[in-house]
Amino acid sequence: MECMRTIASVLAAFVLFAAPLVGQSVNVISYHFRLTLPDTGSLVQGFAGITVEWPAGAADTLRLDLVGMNVSSVGDLKTGDAVPFSYDGTVLKIPLPANDLGRRNIGIQYSGRPSDGLLIGTSARGRRVAFADNWPQRARYWLPTADRPSDKATARFVIEAPATWRVVGNGALMKGVPDGVPWETRHPIPTYTMVIGAGEFTVSKHRPVINGRDTIPIEVWTYAEDSAFADSVPFRRATEIVEVMQRLIAPFPYEKLAHVQSSTKFGGMENSSAIFYAEKPYVERKMGEGVVRHETAHQWFGDAVTERDWPDIWLSEGFATYFDGVIGAALDGDSVLAKSMHANAEDYFKSAVTDRPIVDSGYAADPIKLLNANSYPKGAWVLHMLRGTIGDSAFFRGLRAYYGTYRDSTATSEDFQRVIEKEARADLGWFFHQWLYQPGYPQLDVTWQYDAGARKVLLGITQRQKPEWGLFRLPALTLEFRGANGATVRRSIAVTSGSRETSSRFDLPFAPTEVRVDPDGTLLLRITAISRR
Ligand SMILES: [Zn+2]
Repeated sequence: MECMRTIASVLAAFVLFAAPLVGQSVNVISYHFRLTLPDTGSLVQGFAGITVEWPAGAADTLRLDLVGMNVSSVGDLKTGDAVPFSYDGTVLKIPLPANDLGRRNIGIQYSGRPSDGLLIGTSARGRRVAFADNWPQRARYWLPTADRPSDKATARFVIEAPATWRVVGNGALMKGVPDGVPWETRHPIPTYTMVIGAGEFTVSKHRPVINGRDTIPIEVWTYAEDSAFADSVPFRRATEIVEVMQRLIAPFPYEKLAHVQSSTKFGGMENSSAIFYAEKPYVERKMGEGVVRHETAHQWFGDAVTERDWPDIWLSEGFATYFDGVIGAALDGDSVLAKSMHANAEDYFKSAVTDRPIVDSGYAADPIKLLNANSYPKGAWVLHMLRGTIGDSAFFRGLRAYYGTYRDSTATSEDFQRVIEKEARADLGWFFHQWLYQPGYPQLDVTWQYDAGARKVLLGITQRQKPEWGLFRLPALTLEFRGANGATVRRSIAVTSGSRETSSRFDLPFAPTEVRVDPDGTLLLRITAISRR
C-alpha cells in the first residue's frame, strides 16, 4: 500500500492482537461470504461458508477472528447439523472432531455493526458507500477469518446492496448466482486483501490484457464527477503498466484488475484484483501514476506471493516501491528509476528507523509500525543493489523463479535468498545479512593522494557509521578520477567488512583533481568526506 499522512488515524483505530489466534494446524481453504448491506445505518447481515482442513484422524479447534459481531448459529454445511461453538466477542471457537477426511464445510450466520474493516459512510461526493479496508488485521471486524497473512484462501462474496449501487470484489463476476452480486477469485489470497466496494460508480473499461486464451479486463471504478480525470491522468496507462510487469515477471495473477476510488485510509491499497485508492487525491486532482504503478506491482509481489509474516513485509512493500521506478523506467526511460532511487535514499537517510534492520521482529505484534522507511525505500534499495551485484539477467531470472515458486502462497526472506542464490549461482549470505538483518548503511570517509613520479593514486576508505550498524562489504565500489583537462578514468575498490579501513593503490595516466565515489548512485551509502592529502 501507499501511506497517506493520515496514518495516525489508522493507528488510533487499530486494536492490537499480539498472538496468532488461530491454531497453526487448521488451514482455511475457501471462504464464501454472503452479506446484506443496509439502505440506512450500518447493521450488516452476514453468512460465511468456510472450508477448512486439518490433519486427518486428529481432533482440533477452528479459531476464527471475529470482533464485535453477534453469532446466531454455526452449522455443518454437508450434514445440515448444528455445530457447537463458543464466541467471546473476539474469537469464535468451533471444535473439529477427528474425521477421516480432515476437511469440513462450516456455515456461520452472524450480524452486527462493524466498528472497523468495513467502512459504511458517505463519499467525498456526498453519496452513501461501503468499502472494505482490511490491512493489516481488520478483516476480523466484519468477516470471520483466520486473519493472518500466512493462511491464504480463495474468496467469494455475494453482496445484496441497495438497488442503485454497483458492487466490486476480488476476482471475476460469477454467473448463475440468483440474488446479489457475486464475485469470486479462484486464487488463494491473504485476508488483508479480501474486499468489496459498493456505491454509485461509473465504470470505464480500458483496453484488456490478452494472455493467450485469457482476457484480463482492466477497469476504472470512480464516482461520476472524477471519472474523466481518472481515465486521462492516473489510469491513462493502466493496461501498459500491467504489460510491463508481464514482460518482466509473469502473466497477471488474477481474473481482472479493477482500480477503485474508495474510502481506504491508505493512499492506495493493493487488494487482490480490486485495488482501492483514497478518494481525496481524485477530488483534489492530485492523483498521479506512481501509486498506480506501486499498487499494480503488488498484485505479483504482496498479493500473489505474500510475506508469510509481518517482519518480512519488505517482500511486499520494498518490491512495490522498486517496481514503481522499474515500470516508470520501462515506460519513460532510465532516468525515472534513477530519480526514484535517489528519492528513496533521501527518504531512508532522514527516517527514524536507521537503527533498526529491515527484517524487524520487534514490530511483529504491531505491523502498522512496519510501514516505514526500512520496508519501503530501503527495501527497494536492497533489490536495486542485488540487481547491481548479480546483473540484470540473473536478477530478473531470480525474480521470475521466486514468483513461480511461491505464487498463490507465502514466502520468507530466506526463501527469496535461496532462490536468488540458486539462479545467480553465488553465495550471497553476506549481501542479505548486511542489508536485511543489519541496521544502517555505510558512511564513508575517503582520502587520497597522487604520487606524480610513480603515476599512482593511494586511496583510503574509512567506514564512519555507528559501531552498532556494523561494517559493510562493498565488493566493487566504483571510483571516478577526473583530471584538469576533463579526462576521466574509473577504477574499482573492494571495501571489506573485516576492518573499518580499506586502502588501495591505482595506476593513473594523469594527475586527478577530483575523485567521485559511486558516481552512478548504485549503492545505498553516504560519503561523509572526501579529502586530498
Ligand atoms: Zn505498498
